Amino acid sequence: MAYPEPIERLVREFEKLPGIGERTAERLAFWIVSHPAEEALRLAGALREVKEKIRLCSVCCTVSLEDPCGICASANRDRGTICVVEETRDLARIEATASFRGVYHVLHGRLAPLDGVGPNDLTIGRLLARARAGVQEIILATNPTVEGDATAQYIATRLSEIPGVPHRVTRLARGIPAGSTMEYASRTTISDALLGRRDISSQKR
Ligand SMILES: [Zn+2]
Repeated sequence: MAYPEPIERLVREFEKLPGIGERTAERLAFWIVSHPAEEALRLAGALREVKEKIRLCSVCCTVSLEDPCGICASANRDRGTICVVEETRDLARIEATASFRGVYHVLHGRLAPLDGVGPNDLTIGRLLARARAGVQEIILATNPTVEGDATAQYIATRLSEIPGVPHRVTRLARGIPAGSTMEYASRTTISDALLGRRDISSQKR
């Protein structure tokens, strides 16, 4: 059924969010309608603040208050080793292990052709540009899911096409259970997966 236009509009906006279908969008919209204005305005304020203050690091594409982010700006990180992750929260999980001294690249998703997510929807182009500028190793730390594996394989292929720039391309060891995601792995599991990484392709120096 048709609701008054402002509610219809709110429902359509909620429907654009990941994992939100029409019914949930309606439920969220009517939660807003039925609650005091200050609660909804607090939500609106949080949305505005995040868009005003949070930006993507122009080097590694992670979300940050600064550009470049603290990791890319740090003198103590090894810029020759790039760890590629799907989301900023995966970066945070690896950082929490304190076992990685390189830098990162955040893809903001994974290849998912069935959901219409192709290479141009991720930050793969910027990763390839970083690789072309010269690095020693690129660790593909996408999740060990079907889509994460396919994304790693796609990136490895694209990296292998870069002429004349020698670099190692590795994939995390299978410490993280297949089909699971980094979100649910323990710190030790992530550290072990990093230590046990293996080459999936390399160009001879
Ligand atoms: Zn950065």
